[in-house]
Amino acid sequence: MNTVKVLAPAKLNLALDVVGVLPNGYHDLDMIMQTVDLYETIILRKSQNLTLTLPGSRVPAGATNTAYKAALAFFHYTGLLAGVDMEIRKAVPVRAGMAGGSADAAGVLVGLNALYGAKLSMSELCAIGAGIGADVPFALVGGTCRVKGVGDLIKALPPMPECWFVVVMPSFGISTPEAFAKYDQVGSSVHPDCAAQEQAIRQGDLAGICSAFGNALEECSGAVETPHIREILDGAGALASSMTGSGAAVFGLFDSREQAAAARDILKQEYRQVYLVRPCKGGARVLPPLRRGKAAR
Ligand code: ATP
Repeated sequence: MNTVKVLAPAKLNLALDVVGVLPNGYHDLDMIMQTVDLYETIILRKSQNLTLTLPGSRVPAGATNTAYKAALAFFHYTGLLAGVDMEIRKAVPVRAGMAGGSADAAGVLVGLNALYGAKLSMSELCAIGAGIGADVPFALVGGTCRVKGVGDLIKALPPMPECWFVVVMPSFGISTPEAFAKYDQVGSSVHPDCAAQEQAIRQGDLAGICSAFGNALEECSGAVETPHIREILDGAGALASSMTGSGAAVFGLFDSREQAAAARDILKQEYRQVYLVRPCKGGARVLPPLRRGKAAR
């Protein structure tokens, strides 16, 4: 096997609370995270070199890229004297709070694990991923999870009930460090009850999930369009709406596909980046190789 193709999903925060500050100065978080079927596509080819291209994207492809960092960390951990040519077709908006960069890192880790038959366990991949970015362990595990600490304490939950999300990315993104710095200055009046939301997920209770929606970074994020987008989503029948992560994307939850599609169409008149997505199970995953017969069809 000389090539692998990986799909790495974006995430939404159904709830995000800041519960304190850890001894190392990082924020102590309590979150419910959900992967959705908006995927980065990552193609990895065995190589003597280490290269990265992101066709059509303005994200820098150098050593600061999370995919590049993930490849270096993988080769360092395994001791393999090898390289890889990486191509990432980005579909997840940047600086959206949807963890596109973390998905890319997670995708590179699972892809290299398969490409080189390294047989690293999920916990080894998570340990390597945590060194690259706080959301990388979740991007590896995926599905519906309660996530605490800085993103390192992950508890898998049962899949959430069937629903649809309409996600809107405004014209400008938000820097995560800036959002947290602002939080330290102004705090938040919003503190969602993640324990209640976990309980509602376990009971398959969509109304309970929605009543525990909330994001402690929403007021301070500086994403000025959030209230306007939420108003449109709520007016179009969303059962709940929120900003995701540190912004700037905003999303609504719908129990009907028709209503979600109608909301998407309304928002498309005003915003360029609008997505209709569903919850998905699992995190970054290697696609099975295409059989010749199938590829030809
Ligand atoms: P998170 O919720 O993890 O903070 P985000 O959606 O807010 O994610 P990303 O789009 O993942 O943010 O990354 C934001 C910043 O990281 C950008 O400024 C970008 O230049 C840098 N970056 C590095 N590598 C990547 C990558 N592979 N994809 C996207 N951004 C990347």
